[in-house]
Amino acid sequence: MTNPATTPATNPNSAPEPVRTLLILGASGDLTGRLLLPGLGKLIAQGRTHGLELVGAGADDWDTARWRDRVGTAFTDCAGKANDAGRQDLRSIQERTEYHVVDVTAEGTLARLIASVEAPVAVFFALPPAVSQKACELLEPQDLPEGTRLVLEKPFGTSRESAASLNRTLLSLVPEDRIHRVDHFLGKATVFNILGLRFANRLLEPLMNNLHVEKVEIFYDESLALEGRARYYDKAGALRDMIQSHLLQIMALMAINAPASLTERDLRDHIGSVLRASSVNPDYARSTRRARYTAGQIDGRDIPDYAAEAGVDPAHETETLAEIEVSVNNFRWAGVPFILRSGKALGRQQKEAIVTFKPVQVPAGFKGVDAPTRLRIGFGPETLQLEIDVNAPGDIFTLDRVALEAAMHAPDLLPYGEVLEGVLRGDPLLSVRGDIAEDCWRIVEPVLKAWAAGEVPLEEYRAGSRGPEGWETSRPDSVLPRR
Ligand code: NDP
Repeated sequence: MTNPATTPATNPNSAPEPVRTLLILGASGDLTGRLLLPGLGKLIAQGRTHGLELVGAGADDWDTARWRDRVGTAFTDCAGKANDAGRQDLRSIQERTEYHVVDVTAEGTLARLIASVEAPVAVFFALPPAVSQKACELLEPQDLPEGTRLVLEKPFGTSRESAASLNRTLLSLVPEDRIHRVDHFLGKATVFNILGLRFANRLLEPLMNNLHVEKVEIFYDESLALEGRARYYDKAGALRDMIQSHLLQIMALMAINAPASLTERDLRDHIGSVLRASSVNPDYARSTRRARYTAGQIDGRDIPDYAAEAGVDPAHETETLAEIEVSVNNFRWAGVPFILRSGKALGRQQKEAIVTFKPVQVPAGFKGVDAPTRLRIGFGPETLQLEIDVNAPGDIFTLDRVALEAAMHAPDLLPYGEVLEGVLRGDPLLSVRGDIAEDCWRIVEPVLKAWAAGEVPLEEYRAGSRGPEGWETSRPDSVLPRR
């Protein structure tokens, strides 16, 4: 049966008309103020929005003056760095933007709002997920003028079934290529740095397989703690918040075969194929770990116990640090563990993918060889390191570890600027395709069930530490049989 989420665009050859109006629902919310508007500001300041209108809407009883203030504040930083034309564009969008008080869950309200703005429109659902879902269910295809794009935030559903149901709703409204499921981690710099490194170098690509690679680790460890986001985070946790959404996408980029082109269809087909071959190794007590932070200090700041934070229900047993071992069961990667880990309130930021190569038989007589060759790709800042052993100065028999380093392409937009640019141009390359969003839930759901059933203990770690005792940076062994 055809998966509706993979149904190709209506007409892949016609260039989509650029968006005329960006309609932000949830304009008074945190995402809009902290991430969306600053990202948009930089895009406008660089002259990359071409006659765009901005409209804000939300349940809050704001007026247009207050909304314009919010937009102006968010644009201040980019205005300071923009040229005259950029500053003028920022000012003129800020002076024209309007705010509407709406309850998008009231029948007909969102449809009327969409009809009142200039088409084509991109509707950005910066709303609580359940509100977004309800609002979409109330829309009819005829409510959406030609070229409408729907932009959905994470989390995309709360399970495979709910993601599939949301996909059905969205696909009844617009074709797949007009649906943008935002993953702001999939910034262009991250994606193209990995692809460029892997597929433009004869040196590396022949080694990226189970003959030569021991393991691949993808870490996203933050020193940030809860930062007042209990309402969302306490229901999500590290596995849903980071691994299910972002780290599986990075894993797929590390594992895909070379796509024929950098178009959304070629790239996303390959990502989908890798994820369909992936699963968490089912001995969950050994292939997964979870932990929650207790009170501690980070950079001299006191961090309260997670369970004592306002809005947290300790009975949820929400993990703030999660690790899973995934197998990519295809010809290239069978037998290689992919270890994905993310956590909050850790003493050290570690945001990178590490490829550890298998050891080699070094000729007898060499000294000092004690670590395998490793390739490290850093995310924010974008960096590259190849750790190898070379003959050291002094004793010719002694090998020394050196790191060949390079700075990678750094993004010229903020992550949400890149997301919005894709939306405004109608390019879904950086958005998560529907079938892929469902598959990411399929991969983590058995782990969530095992954790809910208490099969894996919830460990503890002190905020500001490196994690629970025994959690080394790298796992000592894999669940997989050695090949
Ligand atoms: P907030 O709770 O801060 O904001 C939600 C906004 O939606 C508020 O403006 C709220 O208005 C409005 N709203 C709620 N119900 C309705 C309704 N019925 N009709 C119209 N407006 C309504 O949430 P966030 O901004 O933090 O998050 C928004 C989305 O972005 C969520 O899906 C979240 O998961 C996602 N996200 C958030 C990130 C972040 O850092 N904040 C990061 C990544 C994703 P009111 O205040 O009046 O209720």
